[in-house]
Amino acid sequence: RALQLDGEYTAIAIAPDALRATLPDLIAQGYRGLNVTIPYKQAVMPLLDELSDAARAIGAVNTIVVSDGKLIGHNTDAMGFMRGLEASGDAEIRHSALGTQHSALVLGAGGAARAVVYALIQAGARVTIWNRTRDRAIQLAREFDARAIDDLPRDTTFDLIVNSTAVGMTPHSDETPLPLRARGITARAVYDLVYNPRETMLLREARADGAQPIGGIEMLVQQGAEALHLWTGRDAPVDAMRAAIGGDR
Ligand code: NAP
Repeated sequence: RALQLDGEYTAIAIAPDALRATLPDLIAQGYRGLNVTIPYKQAVMPLLDELSDAARAIGAVNTIVVSDGKLIGHNTDAMGFMRGLEASGDAEIRHSALGTQHSALVLGAGGAARAVVYALIQAGARVTIWNRTRDRAIQLAREFDARAIDDLPRDTTFDLIVNSTAVGMTPHSDETPLPLRARGITARAVYDLVYNPRETMLLREARADGAQPIGGIEMLVQQGAEALHLWTGRDAPVDAMRAAIGGDR
């Protein structure tokens, strides 16, 4: 409505064995673009005609542009993640946007983690990855010149900790991915990609421990803003988008 576009954005559930057949159907129905979410960000890649440089480097697609009947895969999560970080309240984190030699601990090794690690490495940070399934952390670290760890040493401090696992999402909002507090692992800022609830248990603990909590809502808005721009060529009305999603960052 804010851009007076004649279109709509709808949620479509696709069964895993129907992904290949459904994409041509959607083009035939006139869709100009699609977002892709859990668990198809990697699975969809072989079904596309072209990939943007970022999507190829990240190895995950969250946005598809339909152009002259071709499907072009993009990844707007990395940009959304960085814009969410830049919009955060911590001046030093914001100004440096995690420049060279900042230390970041990334929890998770799925599609979102790939975008986060890519963005942080590009910004020059030193990245450590922990994941429940160790081999995925090792693989991701290898691809991006990061470090994978099995277990965190006690009493470690990072500039930034990012939760890019699905842990803490409603209805499991009383869970955290790792008992960071019990192990004395602290950070200047803790960024949780989970946006439902707005403030996860991880962020509540971070706030109580004096760290800057950064929620996933701004990233959600910003990755969507970039997708809208790719589909329409228009600048996204981010204030209207924030208001539609319920206000606060
Ligand atoms: P994904 O590809 O399915 O990856 C899920 C990740 O979570 C994997 O690392 C997985 O570990 C881990 N995980 C799942 N359940 C776990 C558990 N019980 N204990 C420990 N680790 C667990 O999903 P994704 O696309 O990366 O999304 C991850 C999260 O990021 C979701 O909550 C999603 O909503 C959020 N996200 C937010 C935004 C935003 O704009 N704010 C954008 C993208 C994603 P294993 O490898 O061991 O399975």
